[in-house]
Amino acid sequence: MKISLDETAGLLEKAQKIIITAHINPDGDAVGSSLGLGAFLMSKGKEVRIYIDDKLPRNLSFLPGYDLIKRLDDERFDADLAVILDTDMGRIGAVSDLIIGKKTLNIDHHISNDGKADYVYIEKRAATAEMVFEIIDYVKAKIPLSVALPLYTGLATDTGFFKFSNTRSYTMMAAARLIDCGVKPNEVSEALEQKPLSVVEGEIEALKTLTMAANGRIAGIFLDYELSSKIESTEGFIDLIRVIEGVDVAVMIKGISPNVCRASIRSKGFDVSKIAMKFGGGGHIRAAGCTLNMPLEEAKKMLLDSLVSALEENK
Ligand code: 5GP
Ligand code: MN
Repeated sequence: MKISLDETAGLLEKAQKIIITAHINPDGDAVGSSLGLGAFLMSKGKEVRIYIDDKLPRNLSFLPGYDLIKRLDDERFDADLAVILDTDMGRIGAVSDLIIGKKTLNIDHHISNDGKADYVYIEKRAATAEMVFEIIDYVKAKIPLSVALPLYTGLATDTGFFKFSNTRSYTMMAAARLIDCGVKPNEVSEALEQKPLSVVEGEIEALKTLTMAANGRIAGIFLDYELSSKIESTEGFIDLIRVIEGVDVAVMIKGISPNVCRASIRSKGFDVSKIAMKFGGGGHIRAAGCTLNMPLEEAKKMLLDSLVSALEENK
């Protein structure tokens, strides 16, 4: 059932024992909105557990509460509310078993959200962190740094540091308010920009696979399992080719096992969420992704063919 901001704030207010989770393959917004909401609810005296069933990006370890996030738990926790952030319930891994039978509240900014949670608060916003900020602001709570820092990080990462088209004046206003709570933008960007040498070496290898299609309107990089398993994080790799002059759609496919691939797609306006949804994924108009259960070469051919014909139709 779709609910409003007021109803969302009401549900959070009423709950005492709360599970928070977000999507696998977590990014700054998944982790940031989880930690921000978690720290806020804890500051209200509530008992909170945060689970994300995946490895967390190491460059987010500067966030307060990072070490509190667990993958799963053997211990029983009788939560009266499970909050799913930055995804629908389809992408939370084994946490879905943990929340069986619990009341679910889904807060998300993805237009492709399946709406299956008991209560769904979806808005087309820059980031889930922006929605969490709005909820906290709505109840007129004071925002400690432990809440502000992760929320700012979620806003910054999902907007490419306030560069992408999802950046609205409200996004900047929220960021400004979080800076007033003590966030230092340079400290966040410095922490996030750091990367190990092995990642830069991975970028070099990835760029060697650059493939252009549709007369230069599509650029792709393709990392086989052997290469991608050597690289700690491929976050930002797609931005290396998104900037090529004349490119409308950028795609990166990486093998996450010999027969399973993850695809990331970016565009400058062409709706790539439709393509991702065709393959069981989803996302936004300009940023989408999907998982393809096939070897890399097959995935590459299928996705490139599909993108080329979609661009043809859209001329
Ligand atoms: P990324 O390329 O960074 O993994 O994902 C880009 C966007 O598409 C993100 O907003 C992400 O939530 C969404 N997305 C990526 N993969 C999937 C997927 O398998 N399913 C759905 N529903 N959304 C996805
Ligand atoms: Mn997000």
